Amino acid sequence: LNNELSEMNGGEREFENTIRPKEINEFSGQPQLIENLRIFIKAAKLRGEALDHVLFHGPPGLGKTTLSRIVANELGVNIKETSGPVIEKPGDLAGLLTSLEPNDVLFIDEIHRLSTVVEEYLYAAMEDFRIDIMIDSGPNARSIQLTIHPFTLIGATTRSGLLTAPLLSRFGIKSRLEYYNSDVLTKIVERSAHILNVQLKDNAAFEIARRSRGTPRIANGLLRRVRDFAQVLNDGIVDIGITQHALNALNVDEHGLDEMDNRILLSIIEKFKGGPVGITTIATAVGEEPGTLEEVYEPFLIQEGFLQRTPRGREATEKAYLHLNKNQPKYGDQ
Ligand code: ADP
Repeated sequence: LNNELSEMNGGEREFENTIRPKEINEFSGQPQLIENLRIFIKAAKLRGEALDHVLFHGPPGLGKTTLSRIVANELGVNIKETSGPVIEKPGDLAGLLTSLEPNDVLFIDEIHRLSTVVEEYLYAAMEDFRIDIMIDSGPNARSIQLTIHPFTLIGATTRSGLLTAPLLSRFGIKSRLEYYNSDVLTKIVERSAHILNVQLKDNAAFEIARRSRGTPRIANGLLRRVRDFAQVLNDGIVDIGITQHALNALNVDEHGLDEMDNRILLSIIEKFKGGPVGITTIATAVGEEPGTLEEVYEPFLIQEGFLQRTPRGREATEKAYLHLNKNQPKYGDQ
């Protein structure tokens, strides 16, 4: 997301790792997904086999990386982490795969950004635990087959719509992460505050949660910023007063919407009379890809009741008009 709070520098990364849950019991929310994962992990362990390949998809900051590490941890195996754009050649992939021990996890973030050649290579590795390596070149070129240890590929993506059918079909477990409600986010913020030794009042935790766009990464980021204000202005105590002061000073939206969310709603209201309007048209108006709108932005706006999907396109709701301080045209108005 092109949002200040989603871009991380080194300090923020370190902060994130300190509060990242490491065990499945520390992970809040996504109850259905967690329940299923527990079963699959247990079954794989009972059989002494590698867990089936897993795909985690959903918007950024909802816990895909966290869950992948938790899965490896619960399986009692190592995890090697990489990302789609980093694996440039089949040789890079071969190097990673041959370094894995039996039943290890290979985590590929942004798996939708794998190149076509690398992706095709991955098929045989995922299916038969073998890779074909080309040796020599010119007339002597030949391929040899290498058997690798059984492993679990965990792929993460914000854009599952970009994955090819053959790749998708090779994941036995496909799970979508959903936005978190304010109650679960409150628990997450409270847990982080506890780890960081921050004195956080109940209603302050809820206020941070409510304005975090359903996203744990944003909630933790806001806690970090509010803590600064509390330290300097309020003896380190994070209560509702200092929280509201800080969030307003940081221009955090009342409902936790980010800049792009508001741009989408504003453009539907101002340029298209509130809709209905097609997703491609909105995308052009706000300068974003239709797929990203559909997979990253729209689900939150719909969940929170700002946007409606109708057969004829997207419509801004009354709540959107109220939020943006716009007058909703009455039926019959031009
Ligand atoms: P993604 O890979 O989906 O972008 P991450 O796994 O990196 O998201 O999660 C971002 C941050 O949010 C992590 O540092 C983690 O501390 C926190 N987080 C995510 N999901 C949860 C959760 N369910 N419970 C507690 N913290 C979470």
